[in-house]
Amino acid sequence: MTDLSTPYRSHTCGQLRAEDAGQPARLAGWIHRRRDHGQLIFLDLRDRHGITQVVVDSSQAPEAHATASRLRTEFVVTVAGEVSRRLPGTENPKLLTGAIELRAREVEILAEAKTPPFYINEPDAPVDEALRLRYRYLDLRREPMKERLLLRSRLVAAIRDAHHRAGFVEIETPILIKSTPEGARDFIVPSRLQPGTVYALPQSPQQLKQLLMVAGMDRYFQIARCFRDEDLRGDRQPEFTQLDLEMSFVREETVMDFVEWMIVEVSRAVVPERPLQQLPFPRFTFEEALERFGSDKPDLRFGMELVDLAPALRGPDGSPASGFRVFDDTLAAAGRVKGIVVPGMGGASRSQLDELTELARRHGAKGLAHLSPLADGSVHGPIVKFLGEERARAVVALAGAVAGDLLLIVADRHETTADVLGRLRVELGGRLGLADPDVLAYCWVHRFPMYQWDEENRRWDATHNPFSAPLPEDVGLLTTTSGDPYRPDPGDPAGRARAQQYDVALNGWELGGGSVRIHRRDLLERSFALQGHSLEAMHEKFGGILEAFDYGAPPHGGIALGIDRWAALFAYQTNIREVMAFPKTQSGADLMLDAPSPPDPAQLAELGLRFVGVGKPAAD
Ligand code: ASP
Repeated sequence: MTDLSTPYRSHTCGQLRAEDAGQPARLAGWIHRRRDHGQLIFLDLRDRHGITQVVVDSSQAPEAHATASRLRTEFVVTVAGEVSRRLPGTENPKLLTGAIELRAREVEILAEAKTPPFYINEPDAPVDEALRLRYRYLDLRREPMKERLLLRSRLVAAIRDAHHRAGFVEIETPILIKSTPEGARDFIVPSRLQPGTVYALPQSPQQLKQLLMVAGMDRYFQIARCFRDEDLRGDRQPEFTQLDLEMSFVREETVMDFVEWMIVEVSRAVVPERPLQQLPFPRFTFEEALERFGSDKPDLRFGMELVDLAPALRGPDGSPASGFRVFDDTLAAAGRVKGIVVPGMGGASRSQLDELTELARRHGAKGLAHLSPLADGSVHGPIVKFLGEERARAVVALAGAVAGDLLLIVADRHETTADVLGRLRVELGGRLGLADPDVLAYCWVHRFPMYQWDEENRRWDATHNPFSAPLPEDVGLLTTTSGDPYRPDPGDPAGRARAQQYDVALNGWELGGGSVRIHRRDLLERSFALQGHSLEAMHEKFGGILEAFDYGAPPHGGIALGIDRWAALFAYQTNIREVMAFPKTQSGADLMLDAPSPPDPAQLAELGLRFVGVGKPAAD
């Protein structure tokens, strides 16, 4: 074991065992609890490594006892004495050190402490989050936060280890750079030496890692801090950490295969007790994921897949003939009628069904139909009178619903049907406890559409990464009807191109995404043109990388995985703040350091800046 002894301690508070009985020892740490029994004072002494019980006996160490009577929780002390086996029956199996106690000879106070604003020794006591963030250093003393930071550290160590074993080089890229768009606003930093100009903080090291491939580094990775100025949600922070990597001479499957191997290695190293649902990870095309799960980040821990009900709603000639207007009109307009089977909810009450309908509406559906097969073979539900008993039975049979189940049906445009049912699936799967919380269900979703039409700006926006390459068989589609890439139009073949873009999902969360990149300048310029960049704008924004491609770029691709999300999922948390040492609030504030804060007027003057229109007199 690593020697952690210092002048203040011979052992940590988590180290001593029964075999050490009879030995002298010195410990240092915080007073976790103190129990005064008169002649005997018991101290639970805590450090990051554990807790050790210390006994101070006035008959044996009167001076130490006098000091111990002054101690309060969270005082910092160093205690020397002799390790002693606890009396039979008084051992504490919950503590690693529970077989022994330290009989104190000497107690020295290293620092006194005010009463903390919340209990540190009661891990389950609810504490207001603002208070936790204001006194984060105290919050981090609490067991659950401490454990999560340790888990995160093990995660990062395992990531590094796997990459080094796979021939990757860890390279730091700068924080003061030029804008690298990832779909959010940039944080900018004004330059003092070049007045009137700014640096942008990286939204990701995207261009730099590609330049490292041009530089011949072959396989790069970094634990990279990224900055995105966007409105905060539960799983977003203005700065966050990505595992960023890039590889040369690869195809889509080369990157996916490596990343999958790495994820398995890391998961087994960090949370060996958690089962991996399926190996190799299932791979769905974007289309298939939408079709089956209504999501591009499906939670595969439970079934409840979306079922296409159209075959049971059409007549012998294939035309819509269900008798229910909403279904027939939807199918006639090339929309979709699909359903999910909710197990055991066949007896749902009126108000439960109203609530689900309301939920579906909130997600964008016009309504929600339902059918419940009964034990006698009949089917119950308000739309049975339109469909007729026979067709209702056919619909239920097609969906695979049996007595006791509830079939929920949405009829709408393809995307809306998928999205609404996908969300209902996740919501109900959660409510019914269908997902095993311990299982890690990773999967891939790939071959996303390359672009989506942006009517407002009349251009093809990259659905993911502006540098992504099309599938080899779709390269010819990177064109417009007019033949001029600078004049995009919604009818362009480009709208059908699929990207070599892959996302990895874990238990319904998007864990990461990446792509094989375009590595030839002419094709990249064509793709940028479709994305609405004039030649001039392109050179202004991406000049560095375009020029580099003139000097020989290898085929390359990579990915980035959210380390905060990964750590949160490993730690059974839904909010990434729970796995960050010093996160910011919803409004982007650091309550502990009181940031952001108004700058010193002298700083503004030096930078040649002045605030205008912020509601306060401009500092000048
Ligand atoms: N730069 C991308 C991101 O931050 C990841 C990648 O394509 O490698 O999402």
